[in-house]
Amino acid sequence: MKKYLLSFVTLLILLQLLGCSLSVSEPVLTYPQVTPSVIASVSPSPSPTPHKTLGPTATPGITQYIPTPSPTIKPTERPTPSPSPTQRPVPGTIVSMKDAQYSYEELMEDINQLMAKFPQYLTLRTIGQSVFGRDIPMIVMGDPENPKKILIQGSTHAREYITSLLVMKQLEVYCEQYGTGIYKDSTYEQIISECAIYFVPMLNPDGVNLCIKGLDSVPMEWRAYVNALPGISKLSAWKANGVGVDLNGNFGTGWGDLSDLPTAPCSDGYPGTPFSEPESKAIQTLCAENAFLNLTSYHACGRILYWYYYQDATTEARDLQYALELKGLTGYSLVGKDSISSSTVGLKDWFIARYRKPGFTIEVGKGSYGTPVPYKDLYNVWYKNELVPIHLAWKECN
Ligand SMILES: [Zn+2]
Repeated sequence: MKKYLLSFVTLLILLQLLGCSLSVSEPVLTYPQVTPSVIASVSPSPSPTPHKTLGPTATPGITQYIPTPSPTIKPTERPTPSPSPTQRPVPGTIVSMKDAQYSYEELMEDINQLMAKFPQYLTLRTIGQSVFGRDIPMIVMGDPENPKKILIQGSTHAREYITSLLVMKQLEVYCEQYGTGIYKDSTYEQIISECAIYFVPMLNPDGVNLCIKGLDSVPMEWRAYVNALPGISKLSAWKANGVGVDLNGNFGTGWGDLSDLPTAPCSDGYPGTPFSEPESKAIQTLCAENAFLNLTSYHACGRILYWYYYQDATTEARDLQYALELKGLTGYSLVGKDSISSSTVGLKDWFIARYRKPGFTIEVGKGSYGTPVPYKDLYNVWYKNELVPIHLAWKECN
């Protein structure tokens, strides 16, 4: 050993004589420098931290959220971006968020499981049948006979089935958090027992299944007809109901306001004649039988929010306040009054005009127009919209 040490010292002296720096041997004699990135990779992962601005508190299952609606909010003052899914798990094991596709069969399976798990909170009804005879389900959270009630609705358009998944997840999470969730100054239980929330997660089951499952999902007697419709070659972009009528043009409001619409059934945009379709008729009847205090129709995509439809001055000020609060929750931009002519004349417009109550079209997701919102946007859609129904119910309690 001594011999080696002596040789080593001799070598060092020789190197010094040759002008070499001692530093060449430093990596051998000392621990490598621990860079910040190394620390990050070797440290234990931080435990999931509840999101400070959007989400539940440290107590699992308790949601405390205080939005800061402000009429003076500037376009640049957006809420903090939502956390990644690894930071804040989404409660509930029934409605899966492993996939952004959501067929009618998956919907019905989830509804059956939710009804079995939470019969004390939920009432299942059918509001009508689609053209192809599928039951259009509605789930009421709270007492259906409560005079205070609001309506949340999804998948008017076929390729926007991510909105059905969103609405079902809202329903499941509210059930999971019914006894523990807190919104502003009230528990979920207090809010929902004062204002029932009606959920119609999939208004257009025929269109959704045609979009996801193709012609095989169409009853034999309709197959030749559907197969001849323009747009059939690109089913992933299908928007209409099963027989080629765009349900969001079928509510009759603003008839003739929009030019250049298709004049025959096809995948996108043909409005039919007012309430010609059983799906839109089902919503018409539902609203006639239930005095909803507000209505939200979920669509995709664009991360924008429609709220205006020629309200009078009083109701416009009221509805703008709702819209600003929803903007505070979601971070979505409000569509300006002057842009209203570019919107589809749809369910929310009919509801505002017919009942003079607040109505909203919320366009979730960022995908490119004409394609379903991609899976990578699903969690963002969830976090942005988790509290929308409970907020709208809370509004009617205060
Ligand atoms: Zn839509």
